[in-house]
Amino acid sequence: MDKYDIVIGLEIHAQLRTESKMFCTCDNYSVGAGPNKNTCPICLGMPGMLPVPNKKAIEWTYLLGMALGAKVAEKFCFERKNYFYPDLPKAYQITSSTMPPIIGGSVEIDDNDVLKKIRINHVHLEEDAGKLIHPKIGEYSLVDLNRAGTPLLEIVTEPDLRSPREARIFVQDLRSILRYLGISDANMEQGNLRCDANISLKPQGQKELGTKVEVKNMNSFKMIERALEHEVKRQEEILSENKKIVQETRGWDDAKGKTLGQRSKEEANDYRYFPEPDIPSIEPNKDNSIDLKEIKNWLPELPKEKRIRFETEYSLSKQDADNLTSDLDLARYFEQTLAEIPQVAGNDEIKKQKAKKLANWLITELLAKLNGQGISILDCKIKHQNFAVLIEKIDSGKISGKIAKEIFSEMFVSGRGVEEIIKEKGLSLISDEKEIETIIRAVISENTASVQDYKSGKEKAFGYLVGQVMAKTKGQANPQIVNKLLKEFLDKE
Ligand SMILES: [Zn+2]
Repeated sequence: MDKYDIVIGLEIHAQLRTESKMFCTCDNYSVGAGPNKNTCPICLGMPGMLPVPNKKAIEWTYLLGMALGAKVAEKFCFERKNYFYPDLPKAYQITSSTMPPIIGGSVEIDDNDVLKKIRINHVHLEEDAGKLIHPKIGEYSLVDLNRAGTPLLEIVTEPDLRSPREARIFVQDLRSILRYLGISDANMEQGNLRCDANISLKPQGQKELGTKVEVKNMNSFKMIERALEHEVKRQEEILSENKKIVQETRGWDDAKGKTLGQRSKEEANDYRYFPEPDIPSIEPNKDNSIDLKEIKNWLPELPKEKRIRFETEYSLSKQDADNLTSDLDLARYFEQTLAEIPQVAGNDEIKKQKAKKLANWLITELLAKLNGQGISILDCKIKHQNFAVLIEKIDSGKISGKIAKEIFSEMFVSGRGVEEIIKEKGLSLISDEKEIETIIRAVISENTASVQDYKSGKEKAFGYLVGQVMAKTKGQANPQIVNKLLKEFLDKE
């Protein structure tokens, strides 16, 4: 791509995890409820019903605005967006995009150490529609209105993104912020975080934007990047043949690996927006029921702040800190486990040392297992205290790396304690110097060439001999004692 500039703007929908729906008291979490069980006359859109806005949803909208460094609007208005669709019983959706509650703000993304501020145009609050189900057999469709009226935030960016990769990173960062705030599960696969993209190409350097295409149905981070990459290629081909891009909505078909045309773009006034007559406008600075100062107090340490703290407080590399803080629960697991390791409290040097070791174990071993088996860190069976004991045993040379991995695997499955597993599996280390000496003698006599190499200054040979001793003890010799004794022996030889 050197002939065209890519311009991408995103519209992201995040379902809020409030207890009740946006305008009624129905349960917002209808997991397990049968179709249409979680409904009432309000969310079913019966005539004459009065919607009452969910205070928590409004407060959380302001909280997100504060986290994005945005401006809280003096006044915002719910309005009706009129359209007919079978999953929308009222034939209008209550939204707030014309006078939104949150204006501006930004998210700073980090693409391989290149920092870039992505501006937010606005955030508005609205209700979701129901779901249509199209059975494979039979010529009919079904509707489930459990989702109708659930609270949704729509986050609209400025067209600041310049590559499909940047778009993917932005959505990942936004997901982290939503989860840190605790206001949304923000899970793309489960549909409580959804992303649509507007993408256009223009000749490099040209100011005027090209015709944009809206891409929908991207249900994972990978799909965002793949779909937009495909769309860049498709538009590039059209433009290079001097043809025109059609302004339209296209859906991503992941199995086919391409976007397919769905419908040409409606004009905004097709929706006949007008203020929702049943809900007064909301003015947070005048309305006593909204306390912006109090909401500001709810702001937690955000992902970027936590990452920077992990780098300084624990001397972790940026990448390790990034890995640990990408998931708030993992970051918590890390800090709670670290606190259980003796000597960590009050000693910065030891704290940094142990933090590095623990971070390595969490990132390379634990995350690999969790991701491999699709388990959340919240369901991890290894208790903080047991993980701390494991790290301590490795560090003090009481167990070798090999045995540690064996114990770790067992802990991961059963959640049992370290000592219990060592006892049961007979994994205790050979620390008896006499026993180790005998093995060292055998290894030296069997590997005279390596002994000569070591004597002529080849440091690698020492590691090889240590490995031989460990192999003969099936990894059960205390590595510190092996190192010490082997050195003594070789220097004597
Ligand atoms: Zn309801």
